[in-house]
Amino acid sequence: MKRSLVYLVGAGPGDPRLITVKGLDCIKKADVIIYDYLVNVDLLKAARPDAEFVYVGKQGGAHTLEQDEINKLLVRKALEDKIVTRLKGGDPYVFGRGGEEALVLSENRIPFEVVPGITAAIATPNYAGIPVTHRDFTSTFGLITGHEDPTKDESSIDWAKISTGIGTLAFYMGIKNLPYITGQLMKHGRSKDTPVAVIRWGTTPQQKTVVGTLETIVQKAKDIRPPAITIVGEVVKLREQLNWFEHKPLFGKTIVVTRSREQASEFADQLYEYGARVIEFPTIEIAKPDSIQPLDEAINNIQSYNWLVFTSINGVDAFFQRLFELGKDIRDLKGIKVCAIGPATEGGIEKYHINVDCRPPKFVAESVVEELKKVTAIRDQKFLLPRADIARSFLPEELEKLGGIVTDLVAYKTIMAQPANINLLDKIKSGEIHIITFTSSSTVRNFVQIIGEKNIAALDGCVQFASIGPITTQTAEEMGFRVGIRAHEYTIPGLVSAILENTLSGN
Ligand code: SAH
Repeated sequence: MKRSLVYLVGAGPGDPRLITVKGLDCIKKADVIIYDYLVNVDLLKAARPDAEFVYVGKQGGAHTLEQDEINKLLVRKALEDKIVTRLKGGDPYVFGRGGEEALVLSENRIPFEVVPGITAAIATPNYAGIPVTHRDFTSTFGLITGHEDPTKDESSIDWAKISTGIGTLAFYMGIKNLPYITGQLMKHGRSKDTPVAVIRWGTTPQQKTVVGTLETIVQKAKDIRPPAITIVGEVVKLREQLNWFEHKPLFGKTIVVTRSREQASEFADQLYEYGARVIEFPTIEIAKPDSIQPLDEAINNIQSYNWLVFTSINGVDAFFQRLFELGKDIRDLKGIKVCAIGPATEGGIEKYHINVDCRPPKFVAESVVEELKKVTAIRDQKFLLPRADIARSFLPEELEKLGGIVTDLVAYKTIMAQPANINLLDKIKSGEIHIITFTSSSTVRNFVQIIGEKNIAALDGCVQFASIGPITTQTAEEMGFRVGIRAHEYTIPGLVSAILENTLSGN
């Protein structure tokens, strides 16, 4: 029997990796996830595919659901004997109305647990280079709501005490009231020269930080919109030395990844490490071939082959998946030599505990033929090439010219992905996107299909294009793209390096 349980979980300040291990577990096991505006939706990817999602976000006072309705929803879902994960930005008990929600659960005798999260007042200054305490500057740190109505007769904030009694002050929800807040602090004795930082969307690649003093910050931060936190205190000065996040090489860059959803994460992770904001815009999907029969026949006669040649990780996975589905295992491959193009393909093969016998130094078909010639006589050798439906004919043709006996078959199919639900064209034209990456010719072709051929010319100058290798570059150029960033090594790390070099050289 299932029992109802509600987890009130702090999702952390924005960077999806700043959730706790327990918080992530609660996402993984939830039947229902109820989440707020400040929760990074990337976290929802960890949920079960059949989980129900309910968005109850509040954005600057515009409530999708009133708090009272959120409370009722929590109770109702829990009474359906469900595991409910209530995800809240930062920490659930810091200005998040988590206390109210927990009380409602308690009153309704619904079991609950509260999972702490990293709150904005600690994480966002950190990502802006500001430690909230430091022995030389302050021994106290206060978390204050900036949301208080300035026209209220009696303030619940004792401005006289906090202005001079606490070293570092963090104001949540204080953007609209910034003139009031800074005015109150100065009026109650805090020096007008006290350093202040306002940090918007902290810990995310969109983070923006503005620094001033109590006297100047209102003017300097006039373009900053919520969500932003205001940090007041001498510690703000440390930002000059400790600003590690905003100095990451790709910080401030927005990069589009067009490869399939399954393959995007490795690339996206590397770009993230360098501080980039990544938009996943899959243009291709990997699907089963129209007929599995040729692959089955090859696998059933696998011992008649001398060489297995893999040109992509998709080919590796499709081949081994089918091998196992047919009840075979790697012992059936005994004695067959293996050739792999590129480290990712090789890594895919090694995952099945099989060594690679031939690794071409360049990751194009031309290099495969050259390298194979070095390690084997081609004539009368039987080669199996489990590849994509759209693979180039160069490799089988060359091997056959040299007397090889080639079975070139479709192990997987590349189809066009359903376009992601974002208006990429507008984002490109408005300058929000800096680099679009192509990792195969089919990503180029499908990108053009999705965006529309007539729109391509207008993109020139708005955005840079990056390509993984010469064949992809050639396809891109034929389709009218100016490819300014080219990988020297035709791999994802090679492409990341080329993007880094390009950025560091000031583009
Ligand atoms: N429970 C949350 C706070 C909710 S109140 C927490 O512990 O962080 C909402 C306010 O938090 C916003 O108005 C803003 O002041 C602050 N905030 C939350 N996330 C933020 C972020 N990524 N960057 C800047 N401020 C943030």
